[in-house]
Amino acid sequence: RVARHLHARVAPLGTAFVLVLCDDQTEARRLDAVRRDFVANVSHELKTPIGAITLLAEAVTDFADDPEAVGRFGSRMQRESKRLAQLVQEIIDLSRVQDHETPAATELIPIGRVIEDAVDRATTRADAKSITLQVVSGGEWYVEGNFELLVNAVRNLVDNAISYSNERTQVGIGAKLDDGRIAIAVTDQGIGLSTEDTERVFERFYRVDPARSRVTGGTGLGLSIVKHIVATHGGEIRVWSKLGQGSTFTILLPIAGGDDGRALEQAAEQ
Ligand code: ADP
Repeated sequence: RVARHLHARVAPLGTAFVLVLCDDQTEARRLDAVRRDFVANVSHELKTPIGAITLLAEAVTDFADDPEAVGRFGSRMQRESKRLAQLVQEIIDLSRVQDHETPAATELIPIGRVIEDAVDRATTRADAKSITLQVVSGGEWYVEGNFELLVNAVRNLVDNAISYSNERTQVGIGAKLDDGRIAIAVTDQGIGLSTEDTERVFERFYRVDPARSRVTGGTGLGLSIVKHIVATHGGEIRVWSKLGQGSTFTILLPIAGGDDGRALEQAAEQ
């Protein structure tokens, strides 16, 4: 009787345990597949500029007596090397933000400064396309996190807005309160995205149009990095877009210091 009683009590527990174990294994297998996929993608992406640089180096040697050709191949080599360097940097950035669940060097950050820095760093690129960067901020809110990472995230969105917009358009960058969180929105009047693409743009190496992306110098990693940075800050990223009309990417972050973030601001002043 005792054995039967024990069996009745332990068996369901055992089943639950086995289920949890299976679940863990499924998750481990999924993560393993994601990792393998990533390595395969990285190798493929690195091979393209490396292959181009190798061919161009051969061409420079073959055309050594033709200064005009050497100049042409040389500048293409420079472009490809820059692309390679950017790719490697973004792969490093991505693996860093993926590995850290909480951002290193956490501090109290005024959101206005994050936007200011991101816009400052994007100004040269905007000017080159005569794109106006318009900053609208409704107040002084604080978030807790890593300043450089947050600037990197907002800058990525502003850079994309510039890359995927035509000349002489506007890009708006704004912050406001949204249901107890701080919303940082970057809006462009650019090429926009189809519904299907809005669901995929945060995937690693996903590019709607790889040829165009190559011209703009894109790697397909930017939004994936942004998504991870936002996640490590306890936030989320959303996108609204319409083909041919433009896009709005919104980062939502928890506010430091209660529902309007001003409590902490006042505490800091006292
Ligand atoms: P990339 O380095 O190619 O810009 P991202 O990860 O930043 O990579 O973006 C992925 C893809 O999403 C881009 O290749 C582009 O097709 C699309 N995309 C990103 N931002 C925008 C935008 N503001 N407007 C239109 N398409 C965009």
